[in-house]
Amino acid sequence: MTQFTSQDSELLINGHQLSLVKLRAGQTPFYAYDRSIISKKITQFRTAMPSELKLHYAMKANPMPALVDFIAQQVDGLDVASGKELNVALNSGMAAHSISFAGPGKQTKELQMAIASQITINIESFTELDRIIEICELIGIKAKVAIRVNPDFELKSSGMKMGGGAQQFGIDAELVDNMLAKIKQQDLDYQGLHIFTGSQNLNADSIMLAHQNIFELATRLQRGCEMPIQSLNIGGGLGIPYFPGEQPLQIEPIGKALAGLIANFYNEFGTVEIAMELGRYLVGEAGIYVAEIIDIKQSRGTTFAVIDGGLHHHLSASGNFGQVIRKNYPVAIGNKMDKDHLEAIQIVGPLCTPLDLMANKYQLPVVEIGDLVVIYQSGAYGYSASPQDFLSHPRPIEMLV
Ligand SMILES: *Cc1c(COP(=O)(O)O)cnc(C)c1O
Repeated sequence: MTQFTSQDSELLINGHQLSLVKLRAGQTPFYAYDRSIISKKITQFRTAMPSELKLHYAMKANPMPALVDFIAQQVDGLDVASGKELNVALNSGMAAHSISFAGPGKQTKELQMAIASQITINIESFTELDRIIEICELIGIKAKVAIRVNPDFELKSSGMKMGGGAQQFGIDAELVDNMLAKIKQQDLDYQGLHIFTGSQNLNADSIMLAHQNIFELATRLQRGCEMPIQSLNIGGGLGIPYFPGEQPLQIEPIGKALAGLIANFYNEFGTVEIAMELGRYLVGEAGIYVAEIIDIKQSRGTTFAVIDGGLHHHLSASGNFGQVIRKNYPVAIGNKMDKDHLEAIQIVGPLCTPLDLMANKYQLPVVEIGDLVVIYQSGAYGYSASPQDFLSHPRPIEMLV
């Protein structure tokens, strides 16, 4: 993977040799996140986007506290999806008014945390609005609220669709007027709208079309509203390449188109905070998962390398987190970076299930026990999106390098 370099056959993580990073970890398996790659992604994004656009980090992609602290210094806001993520976000020092909370099924305790800390709640149901009103009366504080809108259009080419049609997310666009009236009547602190259409999209044209639709919808909804709009969150969903044949997303045209959409919106509604929230795009490529080969066996002509980690640490690389057809994540032998690709092997984990397959028929240098298997594109939806307790093996370490 081109975002990483190597030296004397060894992978480098932010300039550090893999063998030393392994010793620093004190164990295998581990996740390592490269600070320089994260910062570079953020800079590239900012360069391509109009200066008015705010950048938020969607923490559920990777909620490791040290990583959130690092990113918080470089972005304009944080988006959380639970009370625990909210705590990490506030601990990072990010200002409360730049933190927002989305997700269906927020618990009363979580709503209290959000209202007491004065972050913005993206409302996802009428029940939730009622609970917010009740809490505000109880503790005597006005809640900052935005409406998460389930749009009346769908995002094409999205890896994971999260808006359009029937959804557990957000308020159907046709019901938003109703909710706006209730927010006004209850005198809550109305912030604006949040429209998120889907995740892992590598098609710039479909993202630009979605943005156009999002601004049109936001304009339509806001026109009928007597409360001024202060913020518009246009979601994220920018994808990264995982599989052979996938190309990195070209974001420059997206930025150019957004400049026009934002200017139009400002014309009608004045200066409004407009934010894009990104998870995977900022951190996915910066992370690797590293496990050691502890056994090699042949079975009827096929080579199996057994590693000391697997799907319990990294579900998405095993193909069991939202993939329809299993495909390999990019993999390398981190201590044999210069060797020619010589044989197709199976890399499997220690779990007693055939699902624990981390690379299928992958062309790799001839492997030996003790080699380090590196799985790239592992900075998002890795550690925290995996069933760590399945089979009760030890957990991996996470490090920022
Ligand atoms: C998950 C999520 C994101 C982040 O999605 P990525 O594909 O990681 O960028 C952003 N916004 C909301 C509301 C989400 O639920």
